[in-house]
Amino acid sequence: MVARDVLYEAARRRTFAVISHPDAGKSTLTEAIALHAKAITEAGAVHGKPGRRAVVSDWMRLEQARGISVTSAVLTFSYRDILINLVDTPGHADFSEDTYRVVSAVDSVVMLLDAAKGLESQTLRLFDVCRAQGIPVITFVNKWDRPGRDALELCDELAARTGLQPMPLTWPVGPAGDFHGVLDCRDGTVVRYLRTVGGAAAAREERLDPTAAAAQEGAAWSVAREEADLLADSGGGIGLERFLAAEASPVLFGAALLNQGVRQLLDFLVDSAPAPRPRADVTGQPRHLDAPFSAFVFKVQTGMNPAHRDQVAFARVCSGAFERGMVVTNTATGRPFATKYVQQAFGRQRSTVDVAYPGDVIGLVNATVLRVGDTLFAGAVPVRFPRLPSFAPACFAVARPADISRAKQFHRAIARLRAEGIVQVMRSQRRGQGGIPVLAAVGPMQFEVALHRMEWEFASPMTLEHLAYTVVRRLVDPGQRPLVDAGWRSEVLEREDGTELAVFASQIELAVLQRLHPHIELDHLVGGVG
Ligand code: GDP
Repeated sequence: MVARDVLYEAARRRTFAVISHPDAGKSTLTEAIALHAKAITEAGAVHGKPGRRAVVSDWMRLEQARGISVTSAVLTFSYRDILINLVDTPGHADFSEDTYRVVSAVDSVVMLLDAAKGLESQTLRLFDVCRAQGIPVITFVNKWDRPGRDALELCDELAARTGLQPMPLTWPVGPAGDFHGVLDCRDGTVVRYLRTVGGAAAAREERLDPTAAAAQEGAAWSVAREEADLLADSGGGIGLERFLAAEASPVLFGAALLNQGVRQLLDFLVDSAPAPRPRADVTGQPRHLDAPFSAFVFKVQTGMNPAHRDQVAFARVCSGAFERGMVVTNTATGRPFATKYVQQAFGRQRSTVDVAYPGDVIGLVNATVLRVGDTLFAGAVPVRFPRLPSFAPACFAVARPADISRAKQFHRAIARLRAEGIVQVMRSQRRGQGGIPVLAAVGPMQFEVALHRMEWEFASPMTLEHLAYTVVRRLVDPGQRPLVDAGWRSEVLEREDGTELAVFASQIELAVLQRLHPHIELDHLVGGVG
């Protein structure tokens, strides 16, 4: 494999994820995108929702009972000669920790907003993650076919709450609920939509030049033009460097259900979203795209195949060409790892991967030794990518084995859940050195998954004692630990990565501590609340 091929292949890849609040239309948009790219022939074949055709994964009874999808998949397809990897993210807020890790594995993000709701809490928290990692964000305002908010007001909100300068790429012709088409802000033409039934095919559209648009769309066209110009004049002119620097967000309007505005989004991704770039290793050195193969694991998933509980570690390729069968080294253990069974996930179907390039996601089957955050590399020179940052947890519980005689199995199983990133595992000096773990999660459903797996998979049922902490900060100076531990409604929890979290029952305990000890250093965590 010549290096030039790797660079060529990397340049023709776009790896991105969609983040949104539940119900904003992420599944619908994913289907619409895949439909445009002709990756699937019928809407509904990718994501399972009740009433739709297929279910990506119903791998756990819990999942079935709740009707939600806990797993995520990668859709790979080509569009205009570009290879697109759309890394799916779980919809439920409780699994946003998973989304956090997905965001670390992509090169750009589409932030999907419901036109009637604007920026919602989960979207903002996930956006926080993009900002922390400097990931370029494209904003897609969805459901414009239904009554909703004013386009300028939505852009103002975007600027005020994210700090990103909105950069309109398209602007709606007609208010929300009366969607005629979109103005292409770059050339003043209008793409007018002709309705298709049920979103079963790509939207039929016609392009009108500015004169024809003015004549045929009249007032709706001039309002769109004026509003888009207003925003452009206030700093939202198209400046791609500012998008790539994560300072500005291109904004597009559409209706995913009707496949309207989706082609423009795809075209922008292909034309202007970043291709894979060299990733910095732990020392801050960029790993060149044409260096020998390297990748990092951002997700470990168990039991995707209901027939037997297999385990798949998903890794994002950062450099070099991956060839199935090659033996790579796991930096964490220094041990070789054979890659005979490697898959590419496409909805429910899986196919074997023979080669992969920077930007691609490979699924390593039965990789029980791999943990979230592990680096894999080929060649003689080791490389290690930085740990994946953890999301600020919001729920805490002390875990104990239900059957004390199975303590060893219990600890092994907890370690496995930690490796998979199902829950965060912490220790507290206050609870003795005996290794009683405190589990931490972003949402309580992560605990349900943990309880379920402990019982059914590891035959090691556990009990959880929930701790009533609601406010979390990072303790900067470990020497100040006793100050926090002295409070009876606060304590310090130590994460395995060495981070010390100061947790408080409420803002009051935090305020009291800060008043008593004004010099105490506490930081906010990414994605944190409270
Ligand atoms: P998710 O939870 O973000 O994956 O949202 P879904 O894709 O499941 O969509 C939630 C609901 O919004 C569904 O009933 C969709 O049919 C509907 N929806 C999604 N996009 C649009 C749109 O563009 N227009 C309208 N009217 N409804 C939409």
